[in-house]
Amino acid sequence: EKETGEVDYVFKIVVAGDSAVGKTQLLGRFAKDQFFFDSKSTIGVEFQTRTLTLHRKRVKAQIWDTAGQERYRAVTSAYYRGALGAMLVYDITKRATFEHVARWVDELRGHADSSIVVMLVGNKADLAAAGQRAVPTEDAVAFAEEQGLFFSEASALSGENVDRAFLRLLEEIFAVV
Ligand code: GDP
Ligand code: MG
Repeated sequence: EKETGEVDYVFKIVVAGDSAVGKTQLLGRFAKDQFFFDSKSTIGVEFQTRTLTLHRKRVKAQIWDTAGQERYRAVTSAYYRGALGAMLVYDITKRATFEHVARWVDELRGHADSSIVVMLVGNKADLAAAGQRAVPTEDAVAFAEEQGLFFSEASALSGENVDRAFLRLLEEIFAVV
C-alpha cells in the first residue's frame, strides 16, 4: 500500500483565473497520474497530482482546480489554504481575462500565504498563429515583472510550454521550502 511517506514533499498548487481560459486543460496536460474528485463537497474540491523527482527528492505536486466555482466568485479560503504555488491563467485571445489578472493577484495575496509563488500563464498560444492574439506578450512580461510573478505563454492544446511552466513553478517552490 502506498503511503505519503514515500514522497519527500507534497506541494499544494492552486489554479486561478477567469472561467474558460483553459485551467482544467492545462492541469490535465501536466498531471496524468491521479485524479481526485469529492462530489459531496460544497466547494467542489478537486485536484490532480503528479509525482516527480527534483534534486533527488520525490515531490508530489497536488494541483487544485476550481471546478467552475470561479464563475460565482465562490472560491473559498479553504481552496488557497496551505498553497505554496499558484498557476494564474489568462487567455491570450481574450483581453478581459488578462485585465482581470490583477484581481486574481489580489485574491491570492488576500487568501493565500504571502510567500506563495505565482506563475502567470498566457494560455491558448496556439491561436496566435491564426491572428487571434489580443494580449501582446510584452504587456504580460511588464505586468509580471511589476508584480513579481513568473511568466510563460503556453498551449494546453498543443502542449507547448505546459510542462516547462509547471516545472519552473515547482523549482521555484523547491527553492523556498
Ligand atoms: P477553465 O474554465 O479555465 O478550466 O477552461 P477549460 O480548461 O475548461 O477550457 C475552456 C475551453 O478552452 C475548452 O473549450 C478548451 O478546449 C479550450 N482550450 C483550453 N486550452 C486551450 C488551448 O491551449 N488552446 C485552444 N485553442 N483552446 C484551449
Ligand atoms: Mg475548469
